[in-house]
Amino acid sequence: MYMNKGRSLKERFSEKKPLFSVEFFPPKDEDGGKRMLATASLIQPHQPDFVSITYGAGGGTRATTLRYAKLLQEEHGFEVMPHLTCVGHTRDELLEILEEFAQAGFRNVMALRGDPPKGETTFKPVPGGLSYGSDLVGLIRENFPDFGIGVGGYPEKHPEAESVESDLNNLKTKVDAGADFITTQLFFNNSVYHDFVSRCRNNGIHIPVLPGLLPVLSIGQVRRFCAMCEAGLPAELEHSLEDAEADNQPTVGADWALGQIQDLLAKGAPVYHLYALNKPQSTLQILEGLSRK
Ligand SMILES: Cc1cc2nc3c(=O)[nH]c(=O)nc-3n(C[C@H](O)[C@H](O)[C@H](O)COP(=O)(O)OP(=O)(O)OC[C@H]3O[C@@H](n4cnc5c(N)ncnc54)[C@H](O)[C@@H]3O)c2cc1C
Repeated sequence: MYMNKGRSLKERFSEKKPLFSVEFFPPKDEDGGKRMLATASLIQPHQPDFVSITYGAGGGTRATTLRYAKLLQEEHGFEVMPHLTCVGHTRDELLEILEEFAQAGFRNVMALRGDPPKGETTFKPVPGGLSYGSDLVGLIRENFPDFGIGVGGYPEKHPEAESVESDLNNLKTKVDAGADFITTQLFFNNSVYHDFVSRCRNNGIHIPVLPGLLPVLSIGQVRRFCAMCEAGLPAELEHSLEDAEADNQPTVGADWALGQIQDLLAKGAPVYHLYALNKPQSTLQILEGLSRK
């Protein structure tokens, strides 16, 4: 069993660049769990600086996040950042979960509001719950001052936001409430990231902005994701994915993400965060392409 590293990522950002991180999601069943842990084993030799695990909206997946966060920490020695959302939780429940995170040795949390339930367009907090990501950041900062806190950022605007400007002001509220870094929603065109970072800096947001990269697995998948989060899909990538499907060439999405990362690092991005989706092939292809041993 590995010793828990348990360090705030805030320190890591000031010590070393670029960092590299991988995101997992809580598996639906035991078989999915085995696949996820097998992926983690394959990625482990590449020594990610941290890994994150998302927080599901259903009751089962909530317990699963904590369970697999602990396994990733204990069995693989990863610095793990669990995500947490406000969905369905009162303020007191959120404090209990945060206490569990702290007891388990986690020192970082990704603080999110979460999405409205399926079929609903607006987010409604439960009685005694929190309304915005910024409320959760404030709660964490007040009660767990040593936690490193990440928040979500939307280079192409959050789908519910009225405007790019109001979305950026709301992001500033999260930062002022105590966030230490921002991880972006996926994007496929790096100019989108560079514009977003410039807008952040011009709006008084000076914390690290982690680019979130998805190595796309199929044209169907990317269309679904882009429709959900309203991210732009460059025509060149779309056509390559269509051709790849016809020619059975599954590496196109990872090649695109690798190109994005090489360009981002050349332009000084502090980190690259891979949405690995619990699958090893694309992530390994990218890491090998970057010559990470
Ligand atoms: C890196 C990353 C990781 C994610 N991980 C998860 C996960 O693990 N589990 C999960 O369920 N979802 C996850 N999501 C999705 C996320 O929960 C959704 O995008 C959700 O709709 C918004 O969460 P948020 O914390 O960004 O919300 P907020 O920051 O609260 O923003 C939500 C909307 O409200 C607006 N807003 C914010 N503050 C105010 C205010 N004071 N007044 C008026 N409007 C305001 C914003 O502009 C935005 O439109 C993730 C997203 C990202 C980018």
